[in-house]
Amino acid sequence: MAMDYDLIVIGGGSGGLACAQRAAEHGARAMVIESHRLGGTCVNVGCVPKKVMWHAAQLAHAAHDARDYGFDLALQGHDWAQLKARRDAYVARLNGIYLANLEKRGVTLLRERAQLTASQSVAAGGREYRAPHIVIATGGHPLVPAIPGAELGITSDGFFELPARPAGVAIVGSGYVAVELAGVFSALGSHTTLVARGERLLRTFEPFLGEQLAEIMRDEGVELVTQATPTALRRDAAGQLRLELADGRHLGPFDCVLWAIGRLAAVGDLGLKNLRIVRDSMGFVRTDAFQETNVSGVYAIGDVAGRAQLTPVAIAAGRRLADRVFGGQNERRLDYDNIPTVIFSHPPIGTVGLSEAAARHQFGAAVKVYTSRFVPLYHAITTQRPRTMMKLVTAGAEERVVGIHVIGPGADELLQGFAVAIRMGATKRDLDDTVAIHPTAAEELVTMR
Ligand SMILES: Cc1cc2nc3c(=O)[nH]c(=O)nc-3n(C[C@H](O)[C@H](O)[C@H](O)COP(=O)(O)OP(=O)(O)OC[C@H]3O[C@@H](n4cnc5c(N)ncnc54)[C@H](O)[C@@H]3O)c2cc1C
Repeated sequence: MAMDYDLIVIGGGSGGLACAQRAAEHGARAMVIESHRLGGTCVNVGCVPKKVMWHAAQLAHAAHDARDYGFDLALQGHDWAQLKARRDAYVARLNGIYLANLEKRGVTLLRERAQLTASQSVAAGGREYRAPHIVIATGGHPLVPAIPGAELGITSDGFFELPARPAGVAIVGSGYVAVELAGVFSALGSHTTLVARGERLLRTFEPFLGEQLAEIMRDEGVELVTQATPTALRRDAAGQLRLELADGRHLGPFDCVLWAIGRLAAVGDLGLKNLRIVRDSMGFVRTDAFQETNVSGVYAIGDVAGRAQLTPVAIAAGRRLADRVFGGQNERRLDYDNIPTVIFSHPPIGTVGLSEAAARHQFGAAVKVYTSRFVPLYHAITTQRPRTMMKLVTAGAEERVVGIHVIGPGADELLQGFAVAIRMGATKRDLDDTVAIHPTAAEELVTMR
């Protein structure tokens, strides 16, 4: 049967757009089917608007520190609505740029909801489209707990719709989205409560990062409630939200409660069952090392595949898949090791490679760790003096660097170069032999003893 396209991509987010565009550059006839705004989570309700809010929060911190630097600042409050309007306008500009990029490369865009109907067939907008290669790039969506009143809360999607800053907010969760949004609310003036299920924040990361962040957040006025499992959310007679916990504790009142308890694969109406596509125990689409599902010619990339749910990961997986399928690069695929990531908390956290515990699990006694804890120069003269902390994890007699973990100002920007070094197999000796840049926080990583 005739094929309409060489490639159909379902989902016009980070991964889907990257894959379709790279395929088109290789000469493939590619179509993207997207039911919402182009750019997906990252552009519309993720990285981009989040980073704008992070910058606003950074400015709030800087305004606070400015007094210690001799400035006589009289802050007249903060206009959340104005910030939102400017942020939304920027996102709309990006939506337009993404559309122009597709047009430039000759990728067809269909603005419909798509469903898989057979291994080479997709239904959308009332008709069937056929292609020998189909990519599922439908991303994820925030998880909402199955408890009474959960619908009274919002998720990270709703965060970006808030027309005004809530005076009192509870964020339920302890992962990176939870701590990032808590940091923004708190810096911009909301009374912020972070409600964590366990004892620690950022449980999947090197432990000291979450511990140090918790200490800094507490010092800055964030209320941390731990060992807390919500069982109900209710609105009281005054219209305020109250959170009930499994152990009988009641939290509130809050103007806003935000669920940041994880994300699920967006596959609800995708028709995976029509093709018997296999998913893992968490519901993410299972793929092999080449992003292919159990159905030949059907692939999954990005958040829907559940591994390292980050924009550059989705983009890299999409481009490499297109290089392999349409660019003749037969072994091209994404290596999921040593993916650097930043948590845009205040201060930020940068992490790449293995935690100390993971390294010890993998390399046993051959692991050596270097740590540093100091007040960065910026804070040497400020009233609040949060410490920067770093850990370098090395393995083997040659002390190959297998992990770097940093919390402190500048951690976000310093990490990328060190990630290159790790990827190239840098040893502790290589770091030692690198001349430091003084005075910076990054120099600590090449002067550790
Ligand atoms: C609050 C927040 C902050 C984040 N911050 C960062 C960050 O700082 N750095 C970072 O790297 N990552 C960050 N991420 C993660 C990042 O946004 C995702 O990893 C990335 O967007 C995944 O890209 P994707 O292509 O897999 O999916 P998405 O970008 O989610 O795109 C999927 C698209 O598919 C569409 N779609 C779904 N089903 C269908 C269907 N049946 N038919 C048609 N279209 C469909 C959706 O509308 C969506 O546009 C953040 C995420 C969140 C939620």
